[in-house]
Amino acid sequence: MAQQDYYEVLGVARTASDQEIKKAYRKMALQYHPDKNPDDKKAEEMFKAAAEAYQVLSDKEKRQVYDQYGHAGLKGGSGFGGFNADAFAGFEDILGDFFGFGRSSGRSRNRPRQGRNLEQVMELTFMEAYEGVEKKSISIRKNEECDTCGGSGLRAGATRKNCGTCGGVGQVQVQSGFFAISRTCPNCRGTGQLTDPSDRCRTCYGQGQVEKESELKVPIQAGVDNGMQLRVAHKGEPGQNGGPPGDLYLHIQVQEHEYFHRKGDDLYASVPISFSQAALGTELEIPTLKGSEQLKIPEGTQSGTKFRSTGAGFSILGRPHRHGDLYVTVVVQTPTKLGKRERELYKELAKIHSEKTNEEKSVFQKVVDFFN
Ligand SMILES: [Zn+2]
Ligand SMILES: [Zn+2]
Repeated sequence: MAQQDYYEVLGVARTASDQEIKKAYRKMALQYHPDKNPDDKKAEEMFKAAAEAYQVLSDKEKRQVYDQYGHAGLKGGSGFGGFNADAFAGFEDILGDFFGFGRSSGRSRNRPRQGRNLEQVMELTFMEAYEGVEKKSISIRKNEECDTCGGSGLRAGATRKNCGTCGGVGQVQVQSGFFAISRTCPNCRGTGQLTDPSDRCRTCYGQGQVEKESELKVPIQAGVDNGMQLRVAHKGEPGQNGGPPGDLYLHIQVQEHEYFHRKGDDLYASVPISFSQAALGTELEIPTLKGSEQLKIPEGTQSGTKFRSTGAGFSILGRPHRHGDLYVTVVVQTPTKLGKRERELYKELAKIHSEKTNEEKSVFQKVVDFFN
């Protein structure tokens, strides 16, 4: 059976340049690729014939031999050997690689891709962090599918055209020494398709996505703290080619409280008390996050004394209804703007105190005397 001329198979002239041969083969390979023509014997034969022709004509030495001796030259003693179905099986993988369809790279071009993750700061009030929020409403700006074009990026009625550089496969072949290496097509960036600027969707400018502000409700657990990160699954940017959306990461920032200071699960606060309260003792009503609590100040309390109220602290994350402790530091206030009666009483107190002070002084004097 006479073998068909390789130039005829590819439909190129005998003087065709390497570029023209490659282009012709690419076109045929795309048209007759088995993946595109399942169970089509004729297509498979065409594909194999084109691959065989290309293998010879793309190789400078083989092409020269073929030009001079025809098929016989390749089969004969020139050392190139024949071409059979088994050899082709291995060759198909190479084809798949440098043309970006078929086995692996074809899938990578259109493979589902997860959308980008988003990060955002979420501010909570002190009380929100303490009590938790069943549904905290936050507004986020993110890319979403364009409503006008349904994500295609195309104007109504427009179609995408195959990229001329890579023939729509998204990859180009680069000769590197002995090997052909496939690279992402620089013209279409691997998508294999191009859109004429005038065919782009006017709403999204061809991106298929537009930035939108949307509201989201997320549950906040009681006890969250500054610097914690909350992951909201699938609330990031939309995926591509049917891939899942990315995640949303919320960085928690809790506002300061004007009265309480938080350290972990414990709360710290200070309350002012008067001289007489400190000296005589008293019972104070102190505010807590739950409401208020009675605090007993014993007689003779010094300024700076710390009192602990067990369980009146902050919520413990992950342990519902459990709380840390509240530490209350009393600060004795020095009275200012004394009234007439107060002044009299303080003078009287001072007199009593100075007598006491004099007694102490005499003790001090004794010590001085001892050393002299
Ligand atoms: Zn391209
Ligand atoms: Zn659009």
